Amino acid sequence: MAGKTSPLMEQFGRIKRAHPDSILFFRVGDFYETFHDDAVEAARLLGITLTSRNKNDPDPIPLAGIPWHQRDVYVARLLKQGRRVAICEQLEDPAEAKGLVERGVTEVLTPGSVVADAFLVAGESNYLAAVAPSDDSMRAGIALVEASTGEFLAGEFAADEAAAELGRYVIAEYVLPAGIVLARPLEAVLFGARAVTRLPAARFEEEDALAKHFGAAAIAGAPPLAARAAAAALSYLREVQGSALAQVRRFGRLAARDHLGIDPATRRSLELFEPAPGGDPAHTLWAVLHRTCTPAGARRLRALIERPLVDPVLIERRLEAVAVLVDDPARRQTVRRLLGETYDLERLTARVASGKVNARDLVALRATLERVPALAAALGGAAAPELARLAEALDPHLELCGTLARALVDDPPVGIKDGGLIRPGYDEDLDGLRELASGGKRWLAQFEAREREASGIPSLKVGYNRVFGYYLEITRTHAAKAPAHYERRQTLTTAERYVTPELREKESQVLGAEERLRQAEHERFLELRDACAACIATLQDTAAALALLDAFAALAEVAALSGWTRPRVHGGDRLVLQGSRHPVVERLLPPGRFVPNDVELDPGRRQIVLLTGPNMAGKSTYMRQVALNVLLAQAGSFVPCASADIGVVDQLFTRVGAGDHVAGGQSTFMVEMVETANILRRATARSLVVLDEIGRGTSTYDGMSLAWAVTEELHRESGPRPRTLFATHYHELTKLAEHLPRVINRSVRVEEYGEDVIFLHEVVDGPADRSYGIHVARLAGMPEPVVARARAILALLEAERVDPLEAAPAPESAGHVADGPRPQLSLFGTDPRAEELRALLAELDVDRMSPRDALALLYEWKEGLRRV
Ligand code: ADP
Ligand code: MG
Repeated sequence: MAGKTSPLMEQFGRIKRAHPDSILFFRVGDFYETFHDDAVEAARLLGITLTSRNKNDPDPIPLAGIPWHQRDVYVARLLKQGRRVAICEQLEDPAEAKGLVERGVTEVLTPGSVVADAFLVAGESNYLAAVAPSDDSMRAGIALVEASTGEFLAGEFAADEAAAELGRYVIAEYVLPAGIVLARPLEAVLFGARAVTRLPAARFEEEDALAKHFGAAAIAGAPPLAARAAAAALSYLREVQGSALAQVRRFGRLAARDHLGIDPATRRSLELFEPAPGGDPAHTLWAVLHRTCTPAGARRLRALIERPLVDPVLIERRLEAVAVLVDDPARRQTVRRLLGETYDLERLTARVASGKVNARDLVALRATLERVPALAAALGGAAAPELARLAEALDPHLELCGTLARALVDDPPVGIKDGGLIRPGYDEDLDGLRELASGGKRWLAQFEAREREASGIPSLKVGYNRVFGYYLEITRTHAAKAPAHYERRQTLTTAERYVTPELREKESQVLGAEERLRQAEHERFLELRDACAACIATLQDTAAALALLDAFAALAEVAALSGWTRPRVHGGDRLVLQGSRHPVVERLLPPGRFVPNDVELDPGRRQIVLLTGPNMAGKSTYMRQVALNVLLAQAGSFVPCASADIGVVDQLFTRVGAGDHVAGGQSTFMVEMVETANILRRATARSLVVLDEIGRGTSTYDGMSLAWAVTEELHRESGPRPRTLFATHYHELTKLAEHLPRVINRSVRVEEYGEDVIFLHEVVDGPADRSYGIHVARLAGMPEPVVARARAILALLEAERVDPLEAAPAPESAGHVADGPRPQLSLFGTDPRAEELRALLAELDVDRMSPRDALALLYEWKEGLRRV
């Protein structure tokens, strides 16, 4: 019957219209139902059955429901998939409702604003990021908020810096002004976002509310765009949480210059938290470091790695703290054992502040505070100022802790309104009510026995329900024997229920006492909660100190177990690592099998190390381990090196040639060139640049020419000279060292053994003397006739060999990129030999390789064969 809607669906429609962007969980009895489009979507995202309401209608309504007690599980799944959920509850008891039960939305849950444990991952931060672009979209303010801990950070950046900053974190939800165009780099970040919420632009202008929340002094001098983003984040969280956000107390500043810059490409290629696509999650830096004892410690340690420092003084201060814990195993074990007995004080405290706390949380809070004195004692006498500062911040809250211990039972129920929370002996009034209530219970038992005897009905019993209160129940078979003064209340199929005046009178006493007891327990609980809330500031400081202590202890544990050493980080510009290892690869090999290597970079003498060696020699591993060692050191960690002397790095840039991971297509090559150009533009004298086989995504000659020109550009006379590691399979590039004084050739040693090669993984000075392409091909099982044919072709090429330096000498003094376009080297673009190689490829019929890769491989064969 089209057009006629049931009252229930009318009610649904009204509520849904107010929450168009949320999936509405509409409570009907024991279920949360979703209807219409919500149902279709929920069924798809949750894998639950899609059915329909009133199936026989010509126009049935799609319906998908979940049992009420599984709500959180399903909500968590929807949030994880970037959806928001509005919870619509029954606001009155259906048994008492006259007509349609009143309903209303009690909670809106969004991916970036939730605070309940059920929706969070214990060891991971759950960030909401608000982005406020400038009118010309060249700059942007960012505010990052973690509602479940109270962390709040804001800053203003150039658009590409903003993108890089956001790239550091996993962002659960973005908040953006509606109808705004973003600059390209930011758009790229947002493109991969899980959830994006658009807000009216006016919400970005509530700076007065911002000043009121944090205090005018706290936000004074904050960059305008940072304040806009912060205002929007605050306003949005207040709206969806419906709370004052008392857990958000500190307005922290974000500034690009305070932390080691790590662009998204570098983050990916270093596999900090996520493995390369298809890789094993155990093969990340995080998997090596993740040895914290608490979830808050894990989040803090992640943050140290997400945001390594650049100030040598601050770095050394952290290293000092870690060193104390490395050097004193007994102290470290005590600290870690005690931390292991604590709960997530950071999130507990935030829930106290937002009023979403139960008695179990307060018991956990108490248990945690009880460990604090021992933890502070364990730090006693530690020479490191940073540890002394933590010990200072650790406040055991003795009085609060004592009150909680006296007040709350050890294992209270989840509900806070049903009693059973407060220990006997804590409060006289409660004890009195308890006495009364249990006295009432005793009376009821006596009453039952008495009535049974008087009536001669053995099955007579006293019962209780919420609608009728206490009653006497007699089974139907005996109903006729009910005494005359029994007043019938309710008739069931199997029994009759009665009351008597005596029972009614007693009921008001018993029930009253129980109800008053529950009520009073709830009040006492709220007092306890308020007592905790009054200590928010010191509780948060204590929580932060515990988390950081846990992070330090984890770093110390890793260092001690893996034989890492303390690096020296300073304001100089050299970078010297001795006996350095790759933290992850080393762990994957049998003990002692990883070959340690040295590196020395120095803008004045050894600015660019050009690394050659055959495939599988260990070039990529070597370069990444240098970058990872720097990152670890600046995060405050020990490093897998015999010794490390690090002139502090401001930005890490790594670029991995497209051919190394994916079959190179034009678009990936384009990306590669865009990113390389970006490095040339942005790298400073303090940066560390790692280029791994760039130019691989295009034809050999093009690629080599580009690699050549990039090296020259990095070696420029004017402009910054970033320390650079450049791995290449283009053997020609090694000639650069003859002409560019700060380019140093190094290579990964291999030993020939008959027809085979043995990879020694040892990095030595000097260029690789051959590329061993033929050996690699042989190892790979390339058929002998193909190898023979390659030899013949190579001889042909050899006969007409061109030396790039003779063909196009490098310009005398290379200018900075910004000085204007450079003449591009194009040595081989139209070389007829390229055609010849292509013809050879056709013969090869190598179907597992892209033509480009095959060409590159062939080029390596040529190198090897040339010297055979
Ligand atoms: P390339 O980049 O030169 O092709 P990789 O760096 O990818 O080589 O290394 C290839 C493999 O060699 C790695 O997966 C690792 O197993 C091994 N390897 C690399 N470096 C070392 C080393 N220093 N000690 C031991 N094994 C190494
Ligand atoms: Mg490699």
